[in-house]
Amino acid sequence: MEMRHYLTGAGKKEWHLSTIQGIIRNEKYVGDLVQQKTYTIDFLSHKRIKNKGNKTKYESKGVIPAIIDRETFDLAQSIIEKRRKGVLDNNEETNSRYLTRYPLSGKLICFKCGETLKRRYWNYTKPCQRTIMLCNGFIQGKKKCNSKGVVLDVIEEAIRDAIRKFVDLVSVHHSGIKHNDNSECMSLLDEVTAIKGNLEKLIERQLNARSDFKRNALDKKYEEYSEILENKSVLLNKLQNKQKDISLERDRIDTLIDFLDSDSKELTDEVIDAFLTRIIIIDNQHMAIIVAKDKSVTGEQIASNRKDIAQMNGVLDGDVEIRIGIKVYKMSYKVVVI
Ligand SMILES: [Zn+2]
Repeated sequence: MEMRHYLTGAGKKEWHLSTIQGIIRNEKYVGDLVQQKTYTIDFLSHKRIKNKGNKTKYESKGVIPAIIDRETFDLAQSIIEKRRKGVLDNNEETNSRYLTRYPLSGKLICFKCGETLKRRYWNYTKPCQRTIMLCNGFIQGKKKCNSKGVVLDVIEEAIRDAIRKFVDLVSVHHSGIKHNDNSECMSLLDEVTAIKGNLEKLIERQLNARSDFKRNALDKKYEEYSEILENKSVLLNKLQNKQKDISLERDRIDTLIDFLDSDSKELTDEVIDAFLTRIIIIDNQHMAIIVAKDKSVTGEQIASNRKDIAQMNGVLDGDVEIRIGIKVYKMSYKVVVI
């Protein structure tokens, strides 16, 4: 609403969530009139409070011209109610359609302008309805970006195909990932613990030493051990970090394998996060799935380097197509590891 420069009922430019909620919940739009929604508690200050059932509300259905049909209105109310309770339908299609935050939210980058793509519905409630991902730059004005919209289903199909191929690739080249060998780490940890024990003993002996000569000798030994300890600790730290990376990588692959084994093949937040960092939508038939090995890489960095990144060779690629109604949508993708 803000992007389209619509003003609120109060004439303000800023749209708060509560304003929108007020509109969705307002029964006047279906032609109902509810009187006594608020009532005056203080006749001097004219302070009004919400009627939460302590006074009779007068409801008259369909008394004023409706600008929205009752079915849509009721559906909206039930979605609000479900979200409030934190329960959603078991029907996955209904869920993914109505959740405000979508697993790919903010993850699709427009190749042309670098903005993210947003969801838009076409032919909503009709059988040929589909969800289109549109560049935010395009939404703001065609002068800013003239990218075409992309059907969400074909993007999702490409991701599913890519996960299938990616897991195959990873299990061929990194079969070692499954067998996490941490014996080296454990023996190093034992060594470090032993050296620490020796140092403790040295301190004890130092405190009880009777001659300067003895003390000096112990000092030297202490320094020697300290140095060994430091070196070993650095090594241990490196190994532990490597182990952590391996186990994270293993968890990641496990999540993807579970996804491939699932009946629903639903692209949840977890699956998306396990697989990719961003997707560069090159045009409505080409996309580059970006997997950043370094988790500190930000979406902004990918967006500003999108042209170079999209040029990089992929570790794998593929083509998918889906049919919606009579129309066939195609998508070629590649997976780029950065
Ligand atoms: Zn764009």
